[in-house]
Amino acid sequence: MAKDGWTRPAREALRPDRGFRLADLDPSSTPGWKGDSEDAEARLAEVGLELAELQERLFAQSRTGGSRSVLLVLQGMDTSGKGGIVRHVIGYVEPQGVTHRAFGVPTEQERAHHYLWRIGQALPEPGRIGVFDRSHYEDVLVVRVHDLVPPTVWGARYEEINDFEKDVVDSGTTVVKVALVISPDEQRARLRERLDREDKRWKYKPGDLDERVLWPRYTEAYQAVFDRTNTDRAPWFVIPADRKWYARLAVAELLTQALRDLDPRWPPVTFDVEAEKDRLDAQVL
Ligand code: ADP
Repeated sequence: MAKDGWTRPAREALRPDRGFRLADLDPSSTPGWKGDSEDAEARLAEVGLELAELQERLFAQSRTGGSRSVLLVLQGMDTSGKGGIVRHVIGYVEPQGVTHRAFGVPTEQERAHHYLWRIGQALPEPGRIGVFDRSHYEDVLVVRVHDLVPPTVWGARYEEINDFEKDVVDSGTTVVKVALVISPDEQRARLRERLDREDKRWKYKPGDLDERVLWPRYTEAYQAVFDRTNTDRAPWFVIPADRKWYARLAVAELLTQALRDLDPRWPPVTFDVEAEKDRLDAQVL
């Protein structure tokens, strides 16, 4: 057993409370975790295996009529580590059990629909863990920061998103929303690394620097998201992410807890196990 270094459950330590101010969050902190990075890696390995088994149970259940699924919504500035979460946390889960979808600038077809249309299309099937790398929240983040629609339009979206997520939850999908928060200095270091390393350079876009100067406006837009869409049925978790090992462990814990709450059981079989064993033993090929 790896040492469990949590002093408080991740879901309590990372849930913004009423007076939460994003600007006051220390992105290098490790709320609720008293261990070091090695302890965290050991714990992640353990939680990852549990996550994989729970998903398999959920999948097995869906084969016999179960309707539950889990959706992980990942938001964060460029280089905040969303891809690393997918590799290092979701990577534990059987690929068939995962529906991963990244949301970029809407395509022409997507623009012809309501902004929630493409989101509705990508929701996980029963038994699956859905992962959104960016999401409908871009429609109140990048869209707000760049004035892509008038304030009255994006202003109406928070309630619309809450209503949409209520329907998603009511249809059997547990929604876990995670925002990875890095500091401007950490982002500078990560962008610099992308420029320095040939194997990372392909991820760099000159436009990333133009987004970076809008940091205060993004902070404001994220604050509004937490103020207005942090519902009990689809809660936000705000994760300090300057330390990648902490962010990965925290997301693994949150996701695993969401599955534990569903308590998926191996489904009962409809045949006589002992009779099948006898039949198998008796078969000569
Ligand atoms: P990433 O930066 O996540 O690795 P991309 O290079 O594909 O992936 O970037 C996705 C871009 O799409 C981001 O700049 C994001 O802000 C933008 N985007 C996502 N959703 C929307 C949206 N609804 N409207 C406008 N831009 C969006």
